[in-house]
Amino acid sequence: MTKTILIVDDSNFVRNYHAYILEQAAFHVITAVDGSDGLEKLYRNGCDLVLTDVNMSNMDGYEFIRRVRSDQQYTALPIIIVSTESEAKDKTKGFEAGANLYLVKPCTPETILENVRMALLAA
Ligand SMILES: [Mg+2]
Repeated sequence: MTKTILIVDDSNFVRNYHAYILEQAAFHVITAVDGSDGLEKLYRNGCDLVLTDVNMSNMDGYEFIRRVRSDQQYTALPIIIVSTESEAKDKTKGFEAGANLYLVKPCTPETILENVRMALLAA
């Protein structure tokens, strides 16, 4: 069955890049431009996994993840952070917010696909 991935990123380029990689691998992709758009899309369409940026105006990735996790029906939804921030404190913050995995941009298509598949299998 086709899995739906929600990509949340304020960069047009990154959204398109990640969407292209995932669509080439036969995933169904939904995109959102920030955390609040991400929540809206999640509630409207649902998804099997979230790939989210951290630095976004309006609602950042940490707040977005905390809000997703605060909903009982999404406690087990796989969430992967893809961020330019590479320090341990950023990763810790991401995991504390509720992310399952943390990737540092830029990511190769292989890295994205491996981690998405792994997180879906673990879910
Ligand atoms: Mg950003």
